Amino acid sequence: MDYHATTPVDQRVVDAMMPYFTAHFGNAASKQHSYGWTAEAAVEHARQTIARTINADANEIIFTSGATESNNLALKGVAENFRSRGNHIITVQTEHRSVLDVCRNLEERGFEVTCLPVDGNGLVNVDDIRRAMTAGTILVSVMMANNEIGTIAPIAEIGKLCAEHGIIFHTDATQAVGKISVDVQAMNIHLMSFSAHKVYGPKGIGALYVRSKNPYVKLLPQIDGGGHERGMRSGTLNVPAIVGFGKAVQLAAENLENESARISRLRNMLEHRFMNIEETRINGHPAMRLHNNLNVTFSNVPADDLMMALRNDVALSSGSACTSADPEAGKVSHVLKAIGLDDEHARCSVRFGLGRFTTEEEVRFVAERVTKAVEEIRRKSPARLIAERELA
Ligand SMILES: *Cc1c(COP(=O)(O)O)cnc(C)c1O
Repeated sequence: MDYHATTPVDQRVVDAMMPYFTAHFGNAASKQHSYGWTAEAAVEHARQTIARTINADANEIIFTSGATESNNLALKGVAENFRSRGNHIITVQTEHRSVLDVCRNLEERGFEVTCLPVDGNGLVNVDDIRRAMTAGTILVSVMMANNEIGTIAPIAEIGKLCAEHGIIFHTDATQAVGKISVDVQAMNIHLMSFSAHKVYGPKGIGALYVRSKNPYVKLLPQIDGGGHERGMRSGTLNVPAIVGFGKAVQLAAENLENESARISRLRNMLEHRFMNIEETRINGHPAMRLHNNLNVTFSNVPADDLMMALRNDVALSSGSACTSADPEAGKVSHVLKAIGLDDEHARCSVRFGLGRFTTEEEVRFVAERVTKAVEEIRRKSPARLIAERELA
């Protein structure tokens, strides 16, 4: 139940990758022999597949180590390259830490960042973005789908607005690629980050889409040396991972409709079961939400207690895995706070993430176990006790 954090690698992806560890182990940058040519051909095939899926050209795909690196390259790369034109960046409070932390870093280096609020469903108001734009705005960064509450942003509208104002538009589409259809042309996207391990590919490989015309987006590279990836990201390419990334994206695109129908049916089943529990609230947009996401607040049931009670049976999360990697980050989700939950309700929220290998039987099991655990925790620790714990 934690597919937003990562996904298992599809066996078909593993099979596609295997030969590139052994028989075809060449360096894709070796131009003098067939080992290199074979590796390069495989990389270019993956690049083509990924580009076609998002309606981009192959030369607009830059391979990175993942979406965190892609977000760093996009934001720092634009900021440093366009500094003479302006120093203002617009983003949103519910972004992933790998965008918000980069923005904080840029603020320390003299950039000005406007971090817009969202409404109770997690949607940013496009007019707020318009009003925040100044003559010095060089970049707007808004995620396509939220990793905690699944809310899907009006990306095409924001893209159009940015195009009208000649401002570069970046989107973190890590949770969206492979789950909803993404078209960088129709959506007027200039830069887009995504990652293989959220779509049944391997960890440690991702991409940044960088628009090459209308307009050509120039970035300052963050990793120099060797000039790989059109100079934008040097370093020997991880050929097996890239092959796996290509295969994963191909499979996701081929099965997008069937898979989203199946998974949303399961998600709705789970949601329906939870709504039968008293004092339950679903977080995120009722309609504009990822089909595999279910973020629930069970009042008076601290998420830590619920996860502890279920630890041997159900893998759950109280928010972003990337936030929980940092013990200093504080326990309350910045996303849930941004949609208006108080600390107490945010602490009583858990995220369910369904996926390709989730079965109906598992969903029934989870519904059963969660319902029981919620009732038990509430019985043992009524609201009064939680209020006292807060005061202590
Ligand atoms: C997982 C995730 C990331 C980080 O991706 P990595 O490839 O693990 O670095 C960034 N943004 C969003 C929205 C994510 O869900």
